[in-house]
Amino acid sequence: MTKGFVIAIDGPAGAGKSTIARKAAAALGFAYIDTGAMYRSVTWKLLQTGKPFSEELAGKLAGEIRISFRPEGNRNRVFVDETEVTEDIRSAAVTKLVSRVAAVPAVREAMVDQQRRMGREGNVVLDGRDIGTVVFPDSPCKIYLTASVEERARRRGKELEEKGQAVDYKALQAEIAARDKQDMERAVSPLKQADDAIYLDTSDMSIDEVTGAILRLAGERRPKA
Ligand code: C5P
Repeated sequence: MTKGFVIAIDGPAGAGKSTIARKAAAALGFAYIDTGAMYRSVTWKLLQTGKPFSEELAGKLAGEIRISFRPEGNRNRVFVDETEVTEDIRSAAVTKLVSRVAAVPAVREAMVDQQRRMGREGNVVLDGRDIGTVVFPDSPCKIYLTASVEERARRRGKELEEKGQAVDYKALQAEIAARDKQDMERAVSPLKQADDAIYLDTSDMSIDEVTGAILRLAGERRPKA
């Protein structure tokens, strides 16, 4: 049983889930849990060991890892134990490996367990791939956020360019499409829209428009006290 109101936002890579989820949480005064950052943190820890990927190692690390979030201004700082990993978990090496790590059943079990514990305490927005289908299937407020792969690559590329990185848009599109395929075709908790989720294609919507739509839905679905 949850004590609070859970808003579940799922969708493919680069659909703007974390930006929207963070803004909606801030507007509502809810906590925000970026579950993708959790799978990225396990992947980061695995790379830190210098050992090659194995299901066994990934599962072991997921069982031990302590991940915490500290919201600050317009970002959500991420810590593994006492080490800040906010930037490092977005590296190309982590992005390339994360879907393999996230497909390991023991990793998912450990992360879902932590997400439920964090989410159960109060009002919360979570974003990921399996929030509405697996983590909080009873949430009365589920959104499936997507956009065309071209638009998602364009947005991601713009972010990288703003950080001063050179961007190969064709390669970025291919990487996003490959990650979607892996996330949608895995055996455990594949990415899919929950039957009762609202489908929102954000290709032609601004961040404020999408946030507004989610806040309206949350207002309608929130149980009346
Ligand atoms: O959301 P983000 O792109 O940072 O997620 C990184 C990866 O973590 C995804 O591509 C997916 O493989 C995995 N993930 C997942 N389940 C979630 C959130 C993320 O499998 N709830």
